[in-house]
Amino acid sequence: MDKKIIDELKKKLEANKNSIQKELESFATEDPKIKHNWDTKYPNREDGDKDDQADEVQEYDNKLSVEYSLELKLKDVNEALEKITEGKYGICENCGKEIGEERLQACPEAKTCLKCNEK
Ligand SMILES: [Zn+2]
Repeated sequence: MDKKIIDELKKKLEANKNSIQKELESFATEDPKIKHNWDTKYPNREDGDKDDQADEVQEYDNKLSVEYSLELKLKDVNEALEKITEGKYGICENCGKEIGEERLQACPEAKTCLKCNEK
């Protein structure tokens, strides 16, 4: 693939990475011991009544699922960036063919080509 295009996609990936990290930082803290692992902060509202506590649990559950999906996305973005460094970017992990520029423009962290993704 054209180096210029890869550079462009790299910028996109880095921008994605920053925004995912910012989003995670707004409600979670990065685990200093485990790389790429984030912990959602438990909402710490004191002297709430019972309803508030139920809300807190609900809120925490919601955040956990958001955290989980952001974490996965961040992992994919980081892996894509590593692949660029290694010169393996844009190759389908499943069939070994090129993923194709169009798909990468739409989804720069894609690991598989459209065909394999549909399966
Ligand atoms: Zn494939």
